Amino acid sequence: MSRAHQRESIERGLAGVQAAPAGAEPAGKPAPPGGLADPVSQAQARARAMIRGVGARLTGPRLRVLSELLRADQALTHLDLQRRVEDGAEAIDRVTLYRVLDWLADNGLAHRVAGPDRVFRFSAQSTETPHGHFRCVQCGRMYCLGASADLERSVLATLPDGFTEQRVEVTVSGLCADCAPAH
Ligand SMILES: [Zn+2]
Ligand SMILES: [Zn+2]
Repeated sequence: MSRAHQRESIERGLAGVQAAPAGAEPAGKPAPPGGLADPVSQAQARARAMIRGVGARLTGPRLRVLSELLRADQALTHLDLQRRVEDGAEAIDRVTLYRVLDWLADNGLAHRVAGPDRVFRFSAQSTETPHGHFRCVQCGRMYCLGASADLERSVLATLPDGFTEQRVEVTVSGLCADCAPAH
């Protein structure tokens, strides 16, 4: 289990504790309608809206995979995703997972990015505005960086006359916060 995943599990656990009835304490803010209080439900609600937003049928596997992508802090391989989707839930067929990921990417709900090992990672971060990626040379994790329209513009400005771009990919290699030596 990766450190990031452990962190998420811990956060999920904490969210569960916070959502527990407050006992004799005076009631604070009422829970939002539809059980949107915890990150898992929030991700599911977002995933549901995104899938319906492209006019597609809402299936269990689509919902499970996209929710997990939305909650991830890094781009995930098929294997990472399978572990996360199945964590405390029923198994997901590998072929189904591959199909769902291709479907999400084809419909613009997720994008692929190749890692240092040439294995594709998937992320649900929007690509409406271009963003670069960060590749950790130690743990091999891939992260989507913040969106920046200037990033693409400045790269394109360096193209010689007569060259046309098809796509711009900016990848930064280095050590992620977990792998960088502590200061
Ligand atoms: Zn790292
Ligand atoms: Zn990305």
